Amino acid sequence: MIQDIGRNTIDTEFAKPKPQDSDYVLIFEKTDVFVVPETGSLPTYADWKRLGGDNSELVHIFEQAGTQFFTVLDPDDAIKQQLRREVSRYLRTVQPTWLRLGSVTALHLFQWFQNHRFCGCCGAPMKPDGKELAMRCTNDECHAVTYPAISPAIIVGIVNNGKILLTRSSVYKNPVYALVSGYMSVGETFETTVKREVKEETGLDVTNIQYYGNQPWGFSGAQMIGFWAELTGSDQVKLQEEELKEAGWYTPEEIPPAYEENPLDLTHYMIELFRAHKAPAQR
Ligand SMILES: [Zn+2]
Repeated sequence: MIQDIGRNTIDTEFAKPKPQDSDYVLIFEKTDVFVVPETGSLPTYADWKRLGGDNSELVHIFEQAGTQFFTVLDPDDAIKQQLRREVSRYLRTVQPTWLRLGSVTALHLFQWFQNHRFCGCCGAPMKPDGKELAMRCTNDECHAVTYPAISPAIIVGIVNNGKILLTRSSVYKNPVYALVSGYMSVGETFETTVKREVKEETGLDVTNIQYYGNQPWGFSGAQMIGFWAELTGSDQVKLQEEELKEAGWYTPEEIPPAYEENPLDLTHYMIELFRAHKAPAQR
C-alpha cells in the first residue's frame, strides 16, 4: 500500500529548512500536478531554480525521511508553462515509488491551503502561519488559526459463505471493482458508519465488524479505515443507484483481474487479500 513502500514517515513538525537541490518543490493547480517535461519527474529545488522560481514563494509543508517538500500557493504562469500538466492520478505511478506517499500528501495539503485562502470567521485573507503547519488570518483583530483537515472514511469487505461483495461506482466513468465505502458523519462511531453505509448503498445488514487497517489517502483528503464484516440476513442487494451501478458476490476465483500489481490503496489490497484466501474472515 502507499504507506508501505518505504520512507514512510511524513513529519510535519514545523521547521524552516534551507532548501537543498534534491528537495522537492511540488506545483499543483486544482487537482493537476506539474512535472518536468523531459523526464516526467516531480520538480526538485534544482529544477525550481533553473525555471527562475522565486524562493519567497516556497511554503515548506513536511519532511519525508530526510527530504524536504515545498509547495507554491499561487505559481506563476511562466513557471507552469515550462512544465507538463498531468492529472492527479499520475501520482500513483510517479518514480521513485516512495514519492507516491509524499506527493499525494502534498496534494492533500495544497488543496487545503487553496480552500482556506480566506478566513471563515471574518472573511479576511489568510496566509501560512510560518511557525506551524496552519493558516492564520491576517486581520489583526481576528487572528483565527486553522489546521489541516482530514476526512475519515470507512471501507468494508463484506463476506458471506466464502464470497465477498464487490461493487462498481456509478459516479465514475470507468469504475473499477471496489468495496463499500463512505465518509463518517458527525456523531458516528466507525461501526455505525460501516452499518449505515452498507445499508444505504446495498440494503444489506452486517455483523461481526472487525477493524483491519488504515491509510492516509490525500487524493480525497481522507484517512481510509478498513474493516471486515459478515453478512447477516438476506444476501439480496438493493442498489442505491446514485452511488453504485453494480454489486455482487464473488468467490476468490471469480474476482475480476487485479487493478494494480501491488495495490496502493487499501480497497484493492483487501480485495487481493481475499483473492489469496488470506482475509481474516476466511480463516
Ligand atoms: Zn479572520
